Amino acid sequence: MSESPVMLVTGSASGIGRVIAERFVRGGYRVHVSDVDGAALQRCAEAMPGISTSLADVADVEAVNAMFDEVDARYGRLDVLVNNAGISGPTAAVEDIQPADWDRTVAVDLNGQFYCTRRAVPMLKASGGGSIVNIASNAAFFGFPLRAPYTACKWAMIGLTKTLAMELGPFGVRVNAICPGSVEGPRIDGVIERDAAKRGKSPAEIRELYARQSSMRLFVKADDVANMAFFLCSSEGATISGQAIGIDGHTESLSNWLD
Ligand code: NAD
Repeated sequence: MSESPVMLVTGSASGIGRVIAERFVRGGYRVHVSDVDGAALQRCAEAMPGISTSLADVADVEAVNAMFDEVDARYGRLDVLVNNAGISGPTAAVEDIQPADWDRTVAVDLNGQFYCTRRAVPMLKASGGGSIVNIASNAAFFGFPLRAPYTACKWAMIGLTKTLAMELGPFGVRVNAICPGSVEGPRIDGVIERDAAKRGKSPAEIRELYARQSSMRLFVKADDVANMAFFLCSSEGATISGQAIGIDGHTESLSNWLD
C-alpha cells in the first residue's frame, strides 16, 4: 500500500473512542472520527489536526450511510472499522425497564454496529483485507443484574464477531471483539452513581465492588483498550480473528452483590 491506511472509529469524540483515534493517528493511519455530539467532535478536530469527522448517530441508518459516503469520497478506501459507539442503557430491574429505553439501547449498541459494518465490508474487501474491531464489554461473558439490555447487546456483539470472522476470513478481513472491564473515566463514574442509587449504597462502596469483580482488583485504562485495538489491526495481529479478548484483569463475576 503506497498511501497510509484509513480507519474509522465511531463514538470517538470523547472517551475510549477518542483514545483509540489518537492511537491510530500516532500509528500513521488517516483517521475518521464520528460522534453524535457535535461540540465534542469540534473539540476533537481542533485537538487532532488532520483527522476528518462526521456528525452521525450510529442508530440512524441514513446518517451512517452519509458518513460512509463521506469516507469513500474523501479517501476512496477503508482498512479498519472500530465499532466503539455504545451507551450504558438503563440500570433497572427488568420489569422496571421502559420499552423505549430498551429500544434505544439496542438501536445504539447493536443496530449501529450492523449499520456501520454492512457499509464497511465492501470497502474492506476492496482494500484487499483489513480489520473490524468491536468494542464489546466483559458483560459479554456474564449475566449482569440490572443491566439487561446492555448485556444482551454485548453478548450479541460476540455472536456477530464470530459469524463475520467466518464470512470475511476468506477475503482477508479479520473481525475481533475487545471486552473491557470497568474503564476509568466519566462514563464509569456515571454508571457507579446510578448503581449506588439503585442499591442504596455509596459510590465508594460500588467502586470497590467493581474493582473486586476483577482478579487483579483493577480498573482498566482507555489506553489499554486502544493499544489492543491497534495491535489487532497491525501485521502483528495478522492471524488473530474471531476472538473476544478480555482487557479486564480477568473478570470473575459481575454478580457479587454487596448485601
Ligand atoms: P462514553 O460515554 O465515555 O463515550 C462514548 C462516545 O460515544 C461519546 O463521545 C458519545 O457522544 C458517543 N456516542 C454516544 N451515543 C452515540 C451514538 N448513538 N452514535 C454515535 N456516537 C455516540 O463511553 P466509553 O466509556 O468511551 O465507551 C465506549 C465503548 O466501550 C462503548 O461501546 C462501551 O459500551 C464500551 N465499554 C465501556 C466500558 C467503561 O467502563 N467505560 C467498559 C466496557 C465497555
